[in-house]
Amino acid sequence: METGQQKSDAIWQMGIFDAHCHPTDIVASIQDIASMKARVLTVMSTRAQDQDLVQEAAKKYPLHTSNDDFTDPASRYVVPAFGWHPWFSHQMYDDLNGDIAPDQIEHYKSVLTPRPDDVAFVEALPSPRSLRQFLLETEERLQECPYALVGEVGLDRSFRLPQGPSAMTGDMKSKTGGSEEDYTPGTREGRPLSPYRVDLNHQKTILRAQFELAAKLRRPVSVHSVQAHGLVFDLMQALWKGLEKPSKAQRKKTKDAANAFAGDNQPIRNTDSNPPPFPPRICMHSYSGPPEALKQFLAPTVPADIYFSFSTAINFSNTSTAKVTNVIKAVPHDRILIESDLHCAGERMDQLLEEIVLKVCEVKGWTAEEGAKQLKENWMKFVFG
Ligand SMILES: [Zn+2]
Repeated sequence: METGQQKSDAIWQMGIFDAHCHPTDIVASIQDIASMKARVLTVMSTRAQDQDLVQEAAKKYPLHTSNDDFTDPASRYVVPAFGWHPWFSHQMYDDLNGDIAPDQIEHYKSVLTPRPDDVAFVEALPSPRSLRQFLLETEERLQECPYALVGEVGLDRSFRLPQGPSAMTGDMKSKTGGSEEDYTPGTREGRPLSPYRVDLNHQKTILRAQFELAAKLRRPVSVHSVQAHGLVFDLMQALWKGLEKPSKAQRKKTKDAANAFAGDNQPIRNTDSNPPPFPPRICMHSYSGPPEALKQFLAPTVPADIYFSFSTAINFSNTSTAKVTNVIKAVPHDRILIESDLHCAGERMDQLLEEIVLKVCEVKGWTAEEGAKQLKENWMKFVFG
């Protein structure tokens, strides 16, 4: 039997690869990455205020080549992800069909539900921005960084907008080392919630456009989904309609027809000039669905590789442990990722990462070394293909 210390040493020796986190929410903590134990942080952007911050963090801890085997225990890397989170999707207007900038009040009335009659509430929201422009900017960021992901994107059925204007709309508050007031602007900031949600069709428009960008550039995607797994799946499915892999029954039939050659389960043709219209790899981050819902994502006909990522913070705090354990058991060993999903880099992030790696090892019946190795391989496969 390994002792706790031996387990801990074994996983840090192999390296821990955080598949989803938000350290730019407390910018002052970015400098602490250098003294962390985690080898790689996959850092998400979510809104207007953090796109540049994520790009800067990646420049500070750059990954120069995907051939790095990450075996140097002293190396620290930030892999950036660029995207627009569903919590901020109302701030964007759909101009993909050439529409011009809408009136602020009209825009928010059309994308929020219930339709807001409270003019003061709507006037306090940021001026809506162009989806088309955002996609162009994001494409530029992705081109600049060949291993960057698309994220965090997704759908959220339960989120409600906070009341009142963001208190921190201007410059960053004084930086005193990771306290509450150092938060990067734009999030909830402890404000009470309004009754308003973002219309799901609008969320889907924003998500779909970002899926298409990921498809175009062949990038993996990190997806947020709250009470929306079925909808996210439907949207993916619409993208690969007609390009599904042959099912087992179809393959058997082809084989039986003595045409085994054509019946091989060939991957979709993958050329840069004509990439398939769906992202190659998708991670359902802090996956909260039931084990049965995994089936659709993992069906042999699904032409994208779907991964599932787990965190101590989300998965083991507000759902029953038995449920998460069953889900982790049901996820294939090569499709599981781990994450901190934390807003602040540093010791706490390391702690959460170690906890979730050990939990996954326990559930999967892996030794610490086996588990850390598998999780490292999975992360590399997810990010680099
Ligand atoms: Zn997140």
